[in-house]
Amino acid sequence: MRAVVTGGAGFVGSHLCERLLARGDEVVCVDDLSTGRAENIAHLLDHARFRFVHQDVTEGLEIPGRVDAVYHLASPASPLDYLRLPVETLLVGSYGTRNALELARRDGAAFLLTSTSEVYGDPQVHPQPESYWGNVNPIGPRSVYDEAKRFGEALTAAYRRTYGVRTTIVRIFNTYGPRMRADDGRAVPAFFTQALAGLPLTVTGDGSQTRSLCYVDDLVEGLVTALETGVSGPVNLGNPEEVTVRELALAVREVCASASPLTFVPRPEDDPSLRRPDVSAARRELGWAPRTPLAEGLARTVGWFRDASPVGEGVLPA
Ligand code: NAD
Repeated sequence: MRAVVTGGAGFVGSHLCERLLARGDEVVCVDDLSTGRAENIAHLLDHARFRFVHQDVTEGLEIPGRVDAVYHLASPASPLDYLRLPVETLLVGSYGTRNALELARRDGAAFLLTSTSEVYGDPQVHPQPESYWGNVNPIGPRSVYDEAKRFGEALTAAYRRTYGVRTTIVRIFNTYGPRMRADDGRAVPAFFTQALAGLPLTVTGDGSQTRSLCYVDDLVEGLVTALETGVSGPVNLGNPEEVTVRELALAVREVCASASPLTFVPRPEDDPSLRRPDVSAARRELGWAPRTPLAEGLARTVGWFRDASPVGEGVLPA
């Protein structure tokens, strides 16, 4: 298999590249390094079956040679990133997705779109099945991401219907693990950085809003399985084990053996209150379910933040 991974230098993408190489695939990683990092793939650059192409996929995606699979991950993904890059986020979700779909269409390759639980917005149905159409503010600050992904889904579905491209849409729920950026604004890195620095853990609101957190290795297995199964989707991929943000802060504090207190700060606008995937379709259609309990995943992640975040640096509110 020769796979193209757009966004392959990012958090999830770099783990996906590793996984594909480990099973013998040839991997072309395409990334503009806007929110990803060269360090994430530095250890892969000498690999005989790995190639890195530094390119903005919004502008084009010309890959010489036959391609069997296109994993389209390129997009700012953390709230800090997409709020800083609003227009870029909309354009990579539209032009970037078009270019990735055209590449798959050119070679008859299988195509996977990494959409997001954010397409459900602030959901009025809980947990969220794929049949729920969502509750998104189309012009709110977060809409640059939510609507980019919703458009990406619509375009992917249209390419399948119109051109017969073998497309799969997965909706990823919060994922965590090594190579998250300490300063990306998401709760897990913020809590790790703060706990390791002995600083207060900044819980937004009263901390009763929930998140469901999937360990990155489990997610990557879901991505590979989804593309191979060829199911059109959308299919939710995430961990249905729901934790409140407050519980998460306490779990991170424990794995860091930290004595940091919790402090409560205002919640950002449009921050979803409840977020939990219904993964029955993934179980049924892919035979996939997350395997890593939260405590184990956090324990596998703490070393990364110890090395990545020297005490006192990069501390941001969750
Ligand atoms: P990330 O920011 O670490 O990775 C995204 C990668 O895309 C980065 O390496 C970035 O440089 C690259 N990129 C962005 N715009 C690009 C462009 N125009 N051209 C080329 N490369 C570009 O984010 P991540 O957490 O690894 O997310 C990967 C994908 O999974 C994203 O599409 C995201 O929307 C989706 N997703 C992630 C999560 C999560 O919890 N991590 C949840 C839902 C969906």
